[in-house]
Amino acid sequence: MNMLELRNINTSYGNIQVLHDINLHVEQGEIITLIGANGAGKSTILMSICGIVPPRSGEILFNGTSIVWMPPEKIVALGLSQVPEGRHIFPELTVAENLDMGAFLRKDTGRIRQDLEHVYALFPILAERRHQPGGNLSGGEQQMLAISRALMARPQLLLLDEPSMGLAPLVTKQIFSIIRKINEEEDTTVFLVEQNANLALKTADRGYVLENGRITMHDRAETLLGNKDIQKAYLGI
Ligand code: ATP
Repeated sequence: MNMLELRNINTSYGNIQVLHDINLHVEQGEIITLIGANGAGKSTILMSICGIVPPRSGEILFNGTSIVWMPPEKIVALGLSQVPEGRHIFPELTVAENLDMGAFLRKDTGRIRQDLEHVYALFPILAERRHQPGGNLSGGEQQMLAISRALMARPQLLLLDEPSMGLAPLVTKQIFSIIRKINEEEDTTVFLVEQNANLALKTADRGYVLENGRITMHDRAETLLGNKDIQKAYLGI
């Protein structure tokens, strides 16, 4: 059974239809990426999955359960967390308080403390800065905080929207190596939306290409990397 499955998803903002018959799936343990130009509808797919912009029609199954009309907090409680584009950390709250927010649906207090130590081990800089306001962190550190906050909900599936946005290449590299580590060592399945198609396809197992709200191609990531059309349109080759 697929961990996540989208069947014929159509999503609109008002009268404007943005997603057309989206079909995709995510298997347990893999990293999949969704690549596409600005405005193709990548963030809208993530928001449809998370219940923030529910689709007009179609079905979304998470571990076989329909989540298509569920409120976002119920979807998080099932094991699906999103790191939104632009990170959206709480700038006035401390790093530790931001992380507490990620665990707000959980009642297993003992495990929460353990998980907090775990994310501090993944991102030691956050441990050092745990008492500082989130707004004082650099862009890369804020991205680390946003990922850590999502991990505090103990997701089975982590959805990441443009984690490299606005970051220097070296910081991006560091973030992506942590994403791989979370996938390999934590057994967390990853759905990665990225503008940096080269990096995304090098990181992912499989990829989907979105053009004007439609999936136009999907394949093994290495096959997409070698595809002449993809190279020309997204990889600048
Ligand atoms: P980007 O990389 O720029 O974030 P994207 O592929 O994630 O692009 P979306 O943000 O999903 O694309 O946007 C898809 C389309 O929907 C665009 O034409 C955008 O202008 C439109 N859109 C996005 N959000 C809204 C909204 N809240 N109301 C109306 N239209 C919207």
